[in-house]
This record gives sequence, structure tokens and C-alpha cells, in this order.
Amino acid sequence: MSTGKRKRELDLSAFPAGSITEYSTLVCLACTFDIFTKQLGLAPRTAYSEIKKYSPTVAELTARKAVPPFFDSEDKHPHCPYCQAAKRWHAQFETTRIEADKSTDVARRKLIKSLPQKEGQFQIIEAKSDKRTTFFDWLDTLDLNFDIEDDSWLLETTRACLERSEPKTDWVEVCAGLRAVRRSQRLESGWEKERDRLFLSPALYGEVLMVQYLISRSHVHGGRTLEGRLTLQELLRRLRYLGYLDAQKISAGDQFELLDQLIEKLSGGTARVKLYYLVDRRDFLEKVKSVYARYAA
Ligand SMILES: [Zn+2]
Repeated sequence: MSTGKRKRELDLSAFPAGSITEYSTLVCLACTFDIFTKQLGLAPRTAYSEIKKYSPTVAELTARKAVPPFFDSEDKHPHCPYCQAAKRWHAQFETTRIEADKSTDVARRKLIKSLPQKEGQFQIIEAKSDKRTTFFDWLDTLDLNFDIEDDSWLLETTRACLERSEPKTDWVEVCAGLRAVRRSQRLESGWEKERDRLFLSPALYGEVLMVQYLISRSHVHGGRTLEGRLTLQELLRRLRYLGYLDAQKISAGDQFELLDQLIEKLSGGTARVKLYYLVDRRDFLEKVKSVYARYAA
């Protein structure tokens, strides 16, 4: 999975930011034609019509680490890591995942209706999941999108977290020109902006610390947060001091049990959720055609 810029973007402006996850991956058509012609022994023409019908699975399209014949690269002129084929042999799959709920129903139906599907340009895959799993998928994409060593990391992750908890606010606008995020000493809920500083209620501030800790804990000793680098024990101490643990009615257990309960509350736990994957196959169909033309020549 990579996060490169899209060539033909879908208009997703009607969706709350937290309901959308975008994935992008490359497939090597030289490898793919090889599988169909050499391993399966098909004639190029038959291979061509089989490959055109090929629909990758959700796992292939969204894998954190791509598996052959898929690969990820941020290079401008990447080569296939398996067969070294140059860029003209690669096709890009763009996948948009929409988390279904009442706030996205109308926009989702309208968007899907607008997509060309007759010749397989778009494929819609429906899947069921639970809140906790989709929460961790979301954390994964934040991990890939933002560089933890970068100065802007704390602000970027704060904004992403707020987009998820308060989707109705335009956080891009609120966070423009922002220099610092602080815990408010007087707000009981919500947030306020004062010049270039954003003040968050203890509940929102606690959520941001949780999310930052969860994204960064595998990269650094402890996690990187608005409160500096924190071990799990230090994080829990801050959350307790904020009143966040009490507000979430979490008290008993060792530190790992506490973290697990916190994640359960923050993510929505085992509640079921329906997902729609919109797979953009346009680049794939075009490239398969041009690669076949070259193959058959
Ligand atoms: Zn290849």
C-alpha cells in the first residue's frame, strides 16, 4: 500500500474525513502475463482476456506490505522488484474505502451511481468488519501518511484525530497556521482556537494522546505525543490526571488491560460496521491493453 498522488481523483468532499480510507498499489503486468502464459500455458490472446477480468481481492489492494505481482514504490520511475520491468508495464489500482453509516449513506449512493461500471472501470466490493479493526486500519494509514520524524507530525496527527471524532468541523481550516496544541484548563468539552494555538478539552486531548501513542509506539521507545515521548505507564498516568480514565469508566487492571479497555472505548470495539471498497480499475484496463499490444506484436 502506498499513498502516492492520484491521477484521477474521485470527489469525496461530501464525506466526513474520518469515514474514508484511501489505498493505492501497483501491479506488474509483465509478471502477470508471465504467470498466465508461462505458468498456466495460455496463449497471449487468452491471457489478455483473462487478465482483463482479473479482480484483485481487498487484501491484495490494501495490504500493508504488497505481495507479488503487486508492489509499492514512491519512485517516479519505479522498476518491478520481482522482474525489473519498467514503468510502462505497471498499472495502478486506487481503492477508496467508505465506512457506511447514516452520515455517509446518501453521498455514497450518489457517488457509486456516478461511477462508470459497464466495462469494469470500477468495481464495488462490500465487506463486513468491526469498529476495532477499522480503527487499526485507520491508524496504519496515518502511520504511512505522516513522517514521525517530521516537525509537523504532532499537528498532522492531532488534526486527523479531530477529523475522526468531530467530523462536522472543517479541521483543515481550523488548523491552518496553527503552532501549538494545548490542553484547555477551563473547557469541559469541545475546543477553542486562540490566535495560533488550539485548546482542547481533556476528553479530546486524551484522545489525541492515545492516537499519537498508538501510531508511534512501534517506532520509538514509548510513543511520540503532545506531551513528549511517553512509555505506556507515563501515558496512563497523564490520562488519569486528565480525568480521561474516569470519564471512560476505566479503572481496574494492569497497564496492558487498561490500554486494551481504552482502545475498546476509543475504537467502538466489536460493533459491526459495513464497508464499501470502490476499486478504480481504469489505469489497469488501459495498461493491460497497451501491454498486450506490445506482447502480441
Ligand atoms: Zn514484474
